[in-house]
Amino acid sequence: MSPPAALPPGDLPAALRSPAPAAQQGSPPLHEFALADAVVKAAVRAAREAGIDRVEAVVVRVGELQQIATDLFEFSLTQVLPPSDPLLEGARFVVEREAVVFRCRVCGREFGTGDLGEAPGADEAEAVHFIPELAHAFVRCPGCGSPDFDILAGRGVTLERIEGRGGDLPGSP
Ligand code: ZN
Repeated sequence: MSPPAALPPGDLPAALRSPAPAAQQGSPPLHEFALADAVVKAAVRAAREAGIDRVEAVVVRVGELQQIATDLFEFSLTQVLPPSDPLLEGARFVVEREAVVFRCRVCGREFGTGDLGEAPGADEAEAVHFIPELAHAFVRCPGCGSPDFDILAGRGVTLERIEGRGGDLPGSP
């Protein structure tokens, strides 16, 4: 692991010093690509450890609160495959969404976004999906109204499972 290269600010062209506009067209989805790259590397490692010679499917679970564009992520997964590695050749990627589960720290009630009823407005629910940290600003326990809760599920990206075949492969058709 090497840290990302850092240049003194003075050496950067002016255009690179300020963040690119969010709506800029044609820029690569770096976030999704970085996640996809990490998932593929983890899948390769896990397949080797499991003695799988040919991976047929990789199932990835993405939390409902994870800030990610699923279609971009699926596209990225097919783009970051190591071209010279036959292990993942032809593998399917399945992206499953994991529903968020909150648990109230006051009354212990567990609830999801479907239990929130009319509490958050549509815009606020959207904001919560894109900025999970905002959940605490908008979400209230439907039982007691407390804003104090833990997030039990629905965050992060998990390599759920790998489906494939082991060492006794028949010859290719
Ligand atoms: Zn509560």
